[in-house]
Amino acid sequence: MAKKTEIEGYSVIVFVPTGRFTNASNGRNVDISPTEALEIAVLLKKKIADKVAGIWSNIDIEPQISATCESCGSEWTEESDTYNLGCCTADEEDEEQRKRDNGQLGVGA
Ligand SMILES: [Zn+2]
Repeated sequence: MAKKTEIEGYSVIVFVPTGRFTNASNGRNVDISPTEALEIAVLLKKKIADKVAGIWSNIDIEPQISATCESCGSEWTEESDTYNLGCCTADEEDEEQRKRDNGQLGVGA
């Protein structure tokens, strides 16, 4: 048995980023907070909904979340919420402290 694929439709994805970007129309730098980005996304959703009203109603807004180490800023690659496989000294030391607290390491190990 082989996998059968079929196009069910297409999604239009409009990514509204947070942070600093340059407005292409006037060349000015703009800082967008997460709250402002959500407000813009809601506005765009409403504009799209107005255009396609009566045809399509399945329009969603989903957060795009990145995960980084709060100490060194590296990309968070692990399933654990507390240990990123030693991306930096602080991450490694925190993990060793947790092991000591849980009795998994002897003192001085
Ligand atoms: Zn780190």
